[in-house]
Amino acid sequence: MHEFRYRNNSLYCEEVKIKDLVKRFGTPLYVYSYQTLINHFVKLEEAFRPINPLICYSVKANSNLAILKALVDKGAGLDIVSGGELFRAQRVGCQPKKIVYASVGKTDREIEEAVKLGILFFNVESYPELENIQHIAKKLNKTAYVALRINPDVEPKTHKYITTGKLTNKFGIDFRSAKQIILLASGFSNLRITGLHIHIGSQITSPDPFVAAIKKVIGFIDKLKKEGIKLEYLNIGGGLGIIYDRESPQTAAKFAAKVLPLLRKTGLKIIMEPGRFIVGNAGILVTKVLYVKNTPKKKFIIVDSGMNDLIRPALYNAYHNILALHKKNRLEKADIVGPICESGDFFAKDRELPKVEEGEYLAIMSAGAYGFSMSSNYNSRRRPEEVMVVKDKVFVIRKRESSVDLIRNETVPFFLLSR
Ligand code: PLP
Repeated sequence: MHEFRYRNNSLYCEEVKIKDLVKRFGTPLYVYSYQTLINHFVKLEEAFRPINPLICYSVKANSNLAILKALVDKGAGLDIVSGGELFRAQRVGCQPKKIVYASVGKTDREIEEAVKLGILFFNVESYPELENIQHIAKKLNKTAYVALRINPDVEPKTHKYITTGKLTNKFGIDFRSAKQIILLASGFSNLRITGLHIHIGSQITSPDPFVAAIKKVIGFIDKLKKEGIKLEYLNIGGGLGIIYDRESPQTAAKFAAKVLPLLRKTGLKIIMEPGRFIVGNAGILVTKVLYVKNTPKKKFIIVDSGMNDLIRPALYNAYHNILALHKKNRLEKADIVGPICESGDFFAKDRELPKVEEGEYLAIMSAGAYGFSMSSNYNSRRRPEEVMVVKDKVFVIRKRESSVDLIRNETVPFFLLSR
C-alpha cells in the first residue's frame, strides 16, 4: 500500500533511511513518498479507465506545491475551496478547465477570480450563491458554469465532523429545491448549470454509502431528463477511506467494481475529487521522544510534535499507527503526547506502543492527508519541514519555519513603541 518499510530494522521511505533524514533536517519532519503518491493516483485512474473520469485531486488534503505539481503533471485536475487554493492551482499550471470549485462560502472576490480564469465549474451549494455567481459573471460579461451540489441525505458511517451528505449538514441542496433552482436558473443570462455534484463525507470505508447516494442522484437525473433538462457532468466528490488502523482496504478496484456500472449508465462525464485516498498513506510525521514520564496512573511519552503539526487525533480522536524508526520487539502501554498546553494534545492513548527511550524517534504513519494542511502556529510553534523522497533522492518541499516567520505579518502600534 505504501513505500514506508523496515529494512534491517530501520524504517525507510523508498530507498532512504528515515534516520538519515532526521539527522539532516531535524524533527518534527513530514516525509512524503513520491512513488506512493503517484501509485494511488494511477490506481484510481486505472480502475476507472473504462469511463475515463477527470480526477480532480482535492487540494485541501495536502496543498504543498510539489504534491500538486506531481499530480497535475500526471494529468490530475484540482478540486479547490478558496481563492488561496485557486492561487496554488495556477502556480502549478493546472489548466482552468480541470479546476472545480466547492465551498458553502465563496466570497465575491473569489468568485470573480475563478470566473475570469474560466474554471470548469463551481460546485454551488445554495440559491443565494447561484444568484451571486450570475450577478458577478454578468458584470464581467462572462459565462459561469455550475454543478449543483446535491445533499442526497445518506449516512456515510464516518466521524460526524466529516459527514457532509446528511440534510442536517450545511452542505448542498435537497432534491426538491435543486429542481426548482435548475428551473429558475434557466432564465439566467450568464450562468449555465452543466452538472450535479455530491460529496457525502470523508474516510468512508465501504462503497455502500456511495452506491446509495449515486443511485439517488441518478434517479434525479432521469427525472430531469424526462423534463428535457440535459446535463454534461456528474461529480461524485471524494471521501474514499484509507487504512489507518484495521479498516478493511477499500481498494480503487473494489470501489470501481461497485460504482462504475452505475456511473457508466448516466452517459455523463464523471468527475472525482479524492484527497485522502491519494495522499493519506504517502506521508508520515517523524517526531523525537523528548521525555518519558511515569505517573501513578500512566506512562506518557512526550514528543516534539504537537496537535499544531497534526490535529487529527485531537479533532476527531483519529487513529494513526505509530512506529519506531528503529524497529522494537518490546511493547509497552503508554500515551504519546505533545508539548502543547491542551490535554487534547495527543497522538495515541492507552496503546501498546514500541518501547522507546528519550532521544529515539517515532513515525506517525498515514499523516499525508489533513496533516500539514491543517497545521497551525498554535503555541507559537514553527511549522515543520516537509521533504519528498523520490527513490534515493530527497527534496525539501517546504522549509521549516523560522522565528521570524512567526511574526512576519505582525506590527506593534507606534504608540506602544514610543513608551
Ligand atoms: N470534495 C469536497 C467537496 C470535500 O469537501 C472534500 C473533503 O472534505 C473532498 C472532496 C476530499 O475528501 P477526501 O479527502 O475524503 O477524499
